Amino acid sequence: MAHDLHAHTNRSDGSHDPADLVQYAGHLGVDVLAITDHDTMAGVAEAADAGRAAGIRVVPGVELSIKVPHGSMHLLGYFAEPSPDPLLGMLAGLRATRILRAREMVDRLNGLGVTIDWNDLVDEASGAVLGRPHIAEALIRAGHVDTRKEAFDLYLAEGRPAYVRSEGLDVEDGVALVAESGGAPVLAHPSTLGLDAAHLSPFVGRLARAGLIGIEVHRPEHTPDQFAGYGALARTYGLIPSGGSDYHRPSSPHHPGATGDPPLPDDTVDRLLARALG
Ligand SMILES: [Zn+2]
Ligand SMILES: [Zn+2]
Repeated sequence: MAHDLHAHTNRSDGSHDPADLVQYAGHLGVDVLAITDHDTMAGVAEAADAGRAAGIRVVPGVELSIKVPHGSMHLLGYFAEPSPDPLLGMLAGLRATRILRAREMVDRLNGLGVTIDWNDLVDEASGAVLGRPHIAEALIRAGHVDTRKEAFDLYLAEGRPAYVRSEGLDVEDGVALVAESGGAPVLAHPSTLGLDAAHLSPFVGRLARAGLIGIEVHRPEHTPDQFAGYGALARTYGLIPSGGSDYHRPSSPHHPGATGDPPLPDDTVDRLLARALG
């Protein structure tokens, strides 16, 4: 059996319904699965119901976007209960910000003569947290591009003409928000911070002082060097090595339960929650 503490549903930019994802993960031998959608916990309750039916432990989680000057930072939060306060109130505000960002990207596309229909975009997202993948799909439906990758390469990637920077939480605020909501804050995929080893270590130190509890070390795409480097950072700052597949959709490179070699230890989520609640 496998533990996987990072997975997305169609409540953000994944493709599976929450119940569907839990069943799929169970089918692959996962018995503990955290639901970590971007800026929402809307999929947690449905996933938890499916988990109870299938004998899979579903861990309530979220993945927050954090404002950093270079690269991109995502902060995971894990909770003992499905509706942690004050986090849920803050998420409603972040959702509104994401809608404004999507609207601005659509306006820019329309300004470039690449027209897509806002109502179509919103309808197709059917209540999910709007993100660039939804705009990419709308560009495909409108016949402007053939693939998601083409949509990003031509219009949506950082530096391309329809790109709008995402407004996230400040670093210390994000960590504090998770901690004050009774959760365990964990740094996701440290490689996307775009920092070399000399700059990454002090940054992780700053996060640890702000209340960070864990860092993703066990990810299937990590090289042995990355696994060793992030593991060393965890030891230096007293962080719990965590991780998961970051599964989004059937075309994702890694599927639920894939957490690299060696895999995520089975006691990870209990250690994280014990530290958060301790
Ligand atoms: Zn992420
Ligand atoms: Zn993710």
